[in-house]
Amino acid sequence: MSERVLSMNLATLRGAWGLAEAVEGCLKQGITTISPWRDQIKAVGMEEARRIIAANGMRVASLCRGGMFVADTKAERQSALDDNRQAIDEAAEIGAGCLVLVVGGLPPSSKDLNESRKVVAEGLAAILPHARAAKVPLAVEPLHPMYAADRACINTIDQGLDLCEQLGDGVGIVIDAYHTWWDPNLAAAIARAGRMGRILGHHISDWLVPMRDMLLDRGMMGDGVIDLKAFRAMIEQAGYQGPQEVEIFSRDNWWKRPGDDVVRIALERFNTVC
Ligand code: ZN
Repeated sequence: MSERVLSMNLATLRGAWGLAEAVEGCLKQGITTISPWRDQIKAVGMEEARRIIAANGMRVASLCRGGMFVADTKAERQSALDDNRQAIDEAAEIGAGCLVLVVGGLPPSSKDLNESRKVVAEGLAAILPHARAAKVPLAVEPLHPMYAADRACINTIDQGLDLCEQLGDGVGIVIDAYHTWWDPNLAAAIARAGRMGRILGHHISDWLVPMRDMLLDRGMMGDGVIDLKAFRAMIEQAGYQGPQEVEIFSRDNWWKRPGDDVVRIALERFNTVC
């Protein structure tokens, strides 16, 4: 069994803390791996962000996020590509292990999801040379199909892996338990990801019943219906030895709590239910 390492996705702590406070709060409880979001870096400036990360010896699992390749006009698509190249540079500057991509759903004028998938593949191909040159792997995150319209038209691990096969080196996937737990092909898909060596990250949270908001009501591990121990066993069997990253968007609950409490409870649950 691999060493159990918890990475803290800083979205989890954004209700209480900015980058500096989050790093301090994580370190205080022994967490040394984080994934910041671009807005959290922008809020303090790149230079200061780099200083905070280096001075505290933090490991940066990933930068969140790029993507959103889908748009109605050519100009908008071009600006998305430019923004993604910028995100790649930012990921390189903070030494991130990869750049997480939420690829985009349907543009306003379209009902053609397969066209969106084509645009996403083209967008990834367009930024891939820049990513390879910067040595920043692109981590496509398949999202739950409830987001197919507005956030991501890549909805299963297998779809993500098909893209990897199509595009070659420099692209992998993030396997987020919240987004993928329902998949009837989950075990085989995780095993395939392992065989292909494409698992760049693994996010954990829980699926609450009932869920009050499809974006901002994710649960703390153990509060919902995902069998996180079984999930972990599949991921480890697939050869993934990286950290498990706690990523909880929770406007009305966890984002309202003191950051120290969120970190403490995440660690407790990580050690008991994951
Ligand atoms: Zn995620």
